Amino acid sequence: AKKKGKDQYAIFEPSMRESFQKHLEMEADLRRAVLRHEFQLRFQPIVRLATGEISGLEALVRWQHPERGMIPPLDFIPLAEETGMIVPIGEWVLREACRQAAHWNRQRPEDQWLTVSVNLSAVQLDRTDLPDVVNAALTDSGLPAHRLVIELTESLLVDHRQETLERLHAIKDLGVRLAIDDFGTGYSSLAYLRRFPVDIIKIDKSFVDDVGDVPAAAALTLGIIQLGQALQLSTVAEGIEDAGQLSELADGNCELGQGYYFAEPLTTDAMQELLFPADKQ
Ligand code: C2E
Ligand code: CA
Ligand code: CA
Ligand code: CA
Repeated sequence: AKKKGKDQYAIFEPSMRESFQKHLEMEADLRRAVLRHEFQLRFQPIVRLATGEISGLEALVRWQHPERGMIPPLDFIPLAEETGMIVPIGEWVLREACRQAAHWNRQRPEDQWLTVSVNLSAVQLDRTDLPDVVNAALTDSGLPAHRLVIELTESLLVDHRQETLERLHAIKDLGVRLAIDDFGTGYSSLAYLRRFPVDIIKIDKSFVDDVGDVPAAAALTLGIIQLGQALQLSTVAEGIEDAGQLSELADGNCELGQGYYFAEPLTTDAMQELLFPADKQ
């Protein structure tokens, strides 16, 4: 290491120092953001492909930074996970999503009540109090447990300790449903289906992208849908952007879909307007 000493110093300047500085600044910013409630939710509709009706919403977090504007989740969630700040942020997302969904549901006939899907980070799943946090969000909002879906990525399930599995079962025992997000992108998707008590498969956008034009992609996607049916799981196709994809997926009996073809993630006001157009003044 001594021989490389000069090089090692070199890497700290200037770009490394700058990015380290940026990192520290952003960490301080993130702490302040939690205290000042700078986060917002967007809601993207999840649509029943056979009928076109909205069956649920996925809550997606945004950071409204006072100087830098709207920051997408992929630009701050990794840091939030590293610093543990994802725990208070994630709890806020969960509570706010349940509160808003319960509010909207109270204005709808009960047979049209929406589900709300919330993304969970591995760091949240590591916490022993997660089932209590979920239960409190349901109780305080009045959202029935079976209207809440917790989305887990395969990467999150890679580290499958016994406690993780027990925690997921405790959450399921509340009546909450579990979805595997980005299905098909991990190395052992099929193994997870056996090991974890999932109810819903979300087929990753990378499969859906090519479904209208690449026969192999269509075959794989239809195969995943059939697998879901055989296991009595709901299937959601992610990232539907055009009518060709939609018809292919609907023909393949995919139950649900979401994507820009239907709607982008919407602000609370825009979603309100989509759900209750008659209320417009
Ligand atoms: P995800 O859970 O796979 O969410 C879907 C992402 O795809 C969203 O990006 C959504 O806006 C985008 N999307 C939806 N339909 C389409 C489409 O038709 N075309 C394209 N190109 N994109 C589409 P977003 O909102 O930027 O979120 C990115 C990721 O950040 C999410 O991926 C999720 O992993 C994570 N995330 C978002 N909110 C939360 C949260 O509250 N907690 C945690 N832990 N992670 C979150
Ligand atoms: Ca998701
Ligand atoms: Ca996804
Ligand atoms: Ca295409």
